[in-house]
Amino acid sequence: MSYITTIGLEVHVQLKTRSKMFCACPVEFGAEPNSHTCPTCLGLPGALPVMNHEAVRMTVITGLMLGCDIAPTSKFDRKNYFYPDMPKNYQISQYDMPLCENGSVPLHDLAYPKDAQKTIATPDKEVHLVRIHLEEDVAKSFHFESSTGIDFNRAGTPLMEIVTQPAINSPEEAFAFLTSLKQLLIYGAVSDADMEKGQLRCDCNVSVRPEAQAELGAKIEIKNMNSISGVRRALAYEIQRQTGALERGEKLRQETRGWDDAIGETFLMRTKESAHDYRYFPDPDLVPVKSEMLLEEARARIPELPRAKRTRFVEQYQVSSYDADVLADDLELARYFETAANGAKKPKNVANWILNDLQSALSSASKTISDCPIPPEALDELVNLIESGKISGKQAKEVFAEMFASGKPATKIVKEKGIEQLSDTGEIEAFCDQAITANPKPAADFKAGNAASLNFLKGQVMKLSKGKANPQLAGEILERKLKG
Ligand code: ZN
Ligand code: MN
Repeated sequence: MSYITTIGLEVHVQLKTRSKMFCACPVEFGAEPNSHTCPTCLGLPGALPVMNHEAVRMTVITGLMLGCDIAPTSKFDRKNYFYPDMPKNYQISQYDMPLCENGSVPLHDLAYPKDAQKTIATPDKEVHLVRIHLEEDVAKSFHFESSTGIDFNRAGTPLMEIVTQPAINSPEEAFAFLTSLKQLLIYGAVSDADMEKGQLRCDCNVSVRPEAQAELGAKIEIKNMNSISGVRRALAYEIQRQTGALERGEKLRQETRGWDDAIGETFLMRTKESAHDYRYFPDPDLVPVKSEMLLEEARARIPELPRAKRTRFVEQYQVSSYDADVLADDLELARYFETAANGAKKPKNVANWILNDLQSALSSASKTISDCPIPPEALDELVNLIESGKISGKQAKEVFAEMFASGKPATKIVKEKGIEQLSDTGEIEAFCDQAITANPKPAADFKAGNAASLNFLKGQVMKLSKGKANPQLAGEILERKLKG
């Protein structure tokens, strides 16, 4: 029997505002525990929340980037539950009037896992969203040997919750969704979306049902995933587990599971019987949000999105569409390319240097484009040195290696090493005259129609110039002199 998999994701994204959602404490990852707290984010009695407008604006920006409907009015509600990392015993969230609804995330080819890019089931798929709402993050618990510590620095960090429709059909699509979403969040400068820092966290709902069955199978939730590859592995495991159970005739029930990355298995956390009733009600301390006033400013801050950037790179710089994909995939790389390509005669050559030599040098040095030792302008200078005939392609490789190691500019290295290619016509002419006088036989052969003799003479010119003559120029001059 064959089975259909349905996956929906709930993604929590920390916004990169300077201060927290309802107080003025700074948002900073990795600070001394409990150094960024105040009565409001500690949930002390009587402390009142003050809304962070920038967090609301960033959520609207995200909604606009993803094509959501922005609610003219939305409000904040209290989601009541007890948990040690949340001393108010409620989380300020949004229930029935979220800031954004609908919208979608387009999945692009390079967002799929590398081994799955050739077998994409639904090319150009868009995953539709249910909503995006804004809430506050809770504190973080640290479990020690015989005690638990709580760090309230994270409590009150603005947190977007992005909920997809159950419209994802494979672990690979879930992977592509998270990668594409992360890229958009970085493009929009609303979050660094670093999963290792907990800035992007994901819960996965996954159900499997026989093909012949119309209604969805039991919804099983995998909680607190903190890596994109982990999401893929957890889903693959869970699909196999559920399919196996169905094949054995077992009945699946709604439950919440965790993922043990080390052993590669999900485990039962709780069943539906213990599901929460959050007793949502509007937070009386906060006024409803009218988004109209924010819209214009939010619209002005929408960047060029990856898809538009890819198209523009092909048109403006004549790079291949694959190269444009790779360049636009990483915003830093795209910026680097554009800065370098700015003064280039052939931007395509700049792209080639970035995608081949630079990328491989970066990866073998375990560096990224953000800590690249060669500034983009310096790479542009190197490419221009080749194009103007000052150095050969082979010499350029040597200069590039030195640039990467020392950070020195290309022109300086060329001078220091004395590898400048000779393109002074007068000097090359002199070498050509010498070569012809010293080798009358090959010169005569060429005049008589033996084209290969020119190469011999060219070799002599290179020798006389100690390898510095521009070989193309030398060839042209020899030919002119012999034929003339
Ligand atoms: Zn605070
Ligand atoms: Mn939430």
